[in-house]
Amino acid sequence: MIIYKKANDIKNYLSLLAKDKKSIGFVPTMGALHEGHLSLARTSKAENDVTVVSIFVNPTQFNDPADLEKYPVSTEKDILLLDGIDVDVLFLPDQKEIYPDGTDVEKNYNLGPLENVLEGVSRPGHFQGVARVMDVLLRIVNPDRLYLGQKDFQQVKVIQRLIDLQGLGVQIVAVPIVREESGLAMSSRNQRLDAASRKMAGIIFQQLQFIRKNADHQTFSGLKKAAIEKLEKAGIHVDYLVLANRENLEQLKEFDSSLNMMLLIAVQFQGIRLIDNLQI
Ligand code: AMP
Repeated sequence: MIIYKKANDIKNYLSLLAKDKKSIGFVPTMGALHEGHLSLARTSKAENDVTVVSIFVNPTQFNDPADLEKYPVSTEKDILLLDGIDVDVLFLPDQKEIYPDGTDVEKNYNLGPLENVLEGVSRPGHFQGVARVMDVLLRIVNPDRLYLGQKDFQQVKVIQRLIDLQGLGVQIVAVPIVREESGLAMSSRNQRLDAASRKMAGIIFQQLQFIRKNADHQTFSGLKKAAIEKLEKAGIHVDYLVLANRENLEQLKEFDSSLNMMLLIAVQFQGIRLIDNLQI
């Protein structure tokens, strides 16, 4: 695996490969890698000549400085994991490479209504930060395909919007959620929970499954109330639990079988924010 730290170096290297008609798959991450990230990289490896993974903890997408401060970093272990599955190239830039003019210069992307629902409400400015870093990274790597996790479903929609807006001509491949044994969606943040809590947090996914299982004979509002009660009883505070149109993330009051629907949830558990979703 080749490791690049400088944007210009990786850009030059990858543009030579592209000239050689090699297809490039790109997996952007913030490190503290787990099986979810590796699943994206493996999918990319199966579909492209060259797979590039980046690790960059992007400060502009954290609206809470304490959350950024506590974000886990395990670069050496990450390098071993990526090398172990034969990733071709790792991009490991520092902040100056990504934001040569600093992070204070405000950029504003027209992300439309997607920006101000769900995660956008709870984390103001978050998606502008995501769009900003992805705009920079995609221009450096210039991949054919971009591998993103369905766990961050709204993020996939936002990045699709960015790609359209900026005419970046990249194809998104959305990869299914990888879960722990308990059902908890894997996340770098899970490391901050102890083993017992991690197991218990499986109840989040169980409640999504409970709603889906009963969708054909009960109302969403009734099922939502019961699910929230169970979660709160387990000490899990629900930030949102919504039913939405899968295409545009518009919220729905009730099940509508004429639409593709998604359940999306965000919770706070022991001071940690966790998200999950399930297609109905
Ligand atoms: P992050 O490092 O958390 O920014 O995530 C990097 C990429 O990995 C994003 O596209 C995430 O959606 C994806 N990802 C994170 N967790 C999972 C998971 N449990 N299953 C699949 N993809 C994931």
